[in-house]
Amino acid sequence: MAATVTPALMNTYARSELAFERGEGAYLITADGRRYLDFASGIAVTALGHCHPHLVKTLAEQAGKLWHVSNLYRIPDQERLADRLVANSFADQVFFGNSGAEAVECGLKLIRKWQDDFGDPKRYRVIGCEGSFHGRTLATLAAAGNEKYLKGYAPDVDGFDQVPFGNLNELRQKIGPETAGILVEPVQGEGGMRAGSVEYLRGLRQVCDEYGLLLMFDEVQAGMGRTGKLFAHEWAGITPDIVATAKGIGAGFPMGACLATNRVAAAFGPGNHGTTFGGNPLAMAVGNAVLDVMLAPGFMEHVVAMGDRLAGKLDDLIQRHPAVYAERRGKDLIQGLKCHLPNTDLVEKLRGAGLLTVGAGDNVIRLLPPLIISETEIDLAARLLGDVAAEAKAA
Ligand SMILES: *Cc1c(COP(=O)(O)O)cnc(C)c1O
Repeated sequence: MAATVTPALMNTYARSELAFERGEGAYLITADGRRYLDFASGIAVTALGHCHPHLVKTLAEQAGKLWHVSNLYRIPDQERLADRLVANSFADQVFFGNSGAEAVECGLKLIRKWQDDFGDPKRYRVIGCEGSFHGRTLATLAAAGNEKYLKGYAPDVDGFDQVPFGNLNELRQKIGPETAGILVEPVQGEGGMRAGSVEYLRGLRQVCDEYGLLLMFDEVQAGMGRTGKLFAHEWAGITPDIVATAKGIGAGFPMGACLATNRVAAAFGPGNHGTTFGGNPLAMAVGNAVLDVMLAPGFMEHVVAMGDRLAGKLDDLIQRHPAVYAERRGKDLIQGLKCHLPNTDLVEKLRGAGLLTVGAGDNVIRLLPPLIISETEIDLAARLLGDVAAEAKAA
């Protein structure tokens, strides 16, 4: 490996020196054979671990048959994946894209289009939450309103407001005659791994019904099984109007989806929205294979059981290392630790110890193991988190 990253790459990431040659389940392996327990999962993407045999087989078979045809033709596997997502969620219709930002952007366009067609054409603004992350396009940046990411890209896309996450009173106060919808992550990821309470999520539905607004959840990170339900909002027993999802849906194959009810999706007709790559045969074969695994009996129960085990271990770590770990955040297999020491230092030390994690806002370490994680692997991660905390205290 070269000593420094080639200058031919745009300098948008502060990368670690590590490079991996292959992956096996919950492990990533370097060319010289070092093994790392992967609690980053490529930022919540590799939901079934690395090189899951069913995904490898499906991808290889499809690669020999057909990759891409465009949406000018019917794509049987795309129809099948849409049917299966619909059968297993609140949604009636699905639009497939290639990324999280694209899925969110589709939902934002649908909110405006629905108000224009069926609601009140004056309504175009979307209220989001402080501490959110919705992607890196100009509109998704404006929707999240994070100054750090918006800086230098003025003028901001118009039509977005933010209120504190978890606060229904401030949300109600922000609603005006131009408000069209509400966009919330049921579990905030990048912003600090905060899980919205069941009462909060139900309150969002109530507020939207009261004011004629559309309720959209960004489940790009929290969706696709990470909370032990296909979608995290299901824990609140409510029906959203729109859900954007991505990361885990292709388990490493770039893919996103925007789901909606018939009532709302009726605003889209031919020509209103589109994508060249989205929903192509290669992506759809993998998407269906991911669902084969996720919808199998016992899969979601496993996620919940492993989430409980991880929560117990994290609570224990906070008890034993109160000078290092402050608070447990999130739920199930989208959890984190708010730290007293800088999270970037701890993430680096953990990497040195053989455990891959991801930083998040609010000085949090994100723990995003693959959903196929085992008890032994969770116990090992907890031991490494303990070792690093003991060392950090001694330093
Ligand atoms: C990662 C993420 C996105 C953006 O997804 P990309 O695939 O990077 O465009 C949007 N929303 C949430 C909640 C995310 O975690």
